[in-house]
Amino acid sequence: MPKIPDEVVKRVIDRAKIEDVVGDFVDLRKAGVNLTGLCPFHDDKHAGNFIVRPSSIPEARHGNTYRCFACDAKGGPVQFLMAHERLSFPDAIRWLGKKYNEPVDDIPLNYTPPPPRPKPAPLPVMEIPRSYVVRTMTIAQEQSILFIYWLQLLPWDDEQRARLQQTLWMYCVGGWKDGRVVFWQIDHQGIPRAAKLMKYLADGHRDKEAHPGWIYNQDGCRQQLDPDKHEIIKPLFGSHMLNRYPKAVINIVESEKTAIIMANYYGNNDAQIWLACGGLNHLQLDSLQPLIDQGRTIWLWPDKDGRDDWQEVCDKLGYDKCQVYTHFFDTCWREEDGDKADVADIAIRMMRTGDKPRHTDDGQGVTDHNATAGPCNGANPAPTPDTIQRAIDEWKLTHPNDEPFHCEIEMADPRVRMWRETLRQRYNFNKRHNGGTIHTTD
Ligand SMILES: [Zn+2]
Repeated sequence: MPKIPDEVVKRVIDRAKIEDVVGDFVDLRKAGVNLTGLCPFHDDKHAGNFIVRPSSIPEARHGNTYRCFACDAKGGPVQFLMAHERLSFPDAIRWLGKKYNEPVDDIPLNYTPPPPRPKPAPLPVMEIPRSYVVRTMTIAQEQSILFIYWLQLLPWDDEQRARLQQTLWMYCVGGWKDGRVVFWQIDHQGIPRAAKLMKYLADGHRDKEAHPGWIYNQDGCRQQLDPDKHEIIKPLFGSHMLNRYPKAVINIVESEKTAIIMANYYGNNDAQIWLACGGLNHLQLDSLQPLIDQGRTIWLWPDKDGRDDWQEVCDKLGYDKCQVYTHFFDTCWREEDGDKADVADIAIRMMRTGDKPRHTDDGQGVTDHNATAGPCNGANPAPTPDTIQRAIDEWKLTHPNDEPFHCEIEMADPRVRMWRETLRQRYNFNKRHNGGTIHTTD
């Protein structure tokens, strides 16, 4: 068999684009500058292992190659065809020649395309038992979680301080045995889907050394929650409050911490609730769909340096009730807040200096919490057994047909504990302000 001339081989290889070739066999989607899809060389369930570096990236930076970080399959367009279609080298060149209309030789391509792979049946979406949520909330009550401790030490005013436990409880903020905080991602139907475990430092900043962990990857959870057999969806943090506050405007910030701080800062949940996307790349049609289905008004609150990016996402969404909200920044930001400030940084600074956010004049802004009436506003009434029972009943209302969660007492218990904590704090707080000393009361 005559050899294919070197210059022909070179011409064909120069034309071949990895994204076209792999794209003929694998569904690829953009992931930053790369493309990703399920690896065709192993039984892959998570997009993200298999990376295609498109031909637009220089060769020195591994452009025009593919690589799987799970099974270590790698190479360029020719290697892909040889491995995936089991072609010989000359046949891979002929295959590419045909695809790119580059004449190779007269020898017919010895190739019958394999039957298309059957699409795997969709995996069930992961559903985490509510007892896990309860367990982490209990840990948050019983152990010191640095994030919660830091949050308690912020210079809240009396009202804000009085509702802090309630805010944490509303978001189902939990703790992990190693002191990490657990941010639950519970969907709008009240089903826990995922939880992010984050390590915070004593100054309230995230420990940048520690990557966020996920609940289904923790020892002890992994066996019961098998991420390999489930599709994992990550709803916006706080989505479970959507149905409970049907008229509230939806404010979306980037970090969970910011959502909690702002929710506690303003406090009026009937008028506005705070959700976090956890990163701009999670601000997509998928995650916003439940909000759009409900026709909710959405305000996006980017960090100081993120306006343009968020505006771009907002434009792409093309949902007319969604807009980037900058009034707070425009009226409250000061140079000392820095160019990377997010709204919580500004809110904290204003708590320290006693500044208040100004009313908006465009009729869209968040109102000063002093000027609005709401259940969390003014003097937060001390909980009675009745109000506690009502709170528990409300929870049941929001979560009907709750199969995975068997023990309602379990749920009631940390809530009662939280109420008690609120009382204790308020008691201490009053004492401190009456000139007394601080000591625990129970
Ligand atoms: Zn692989």
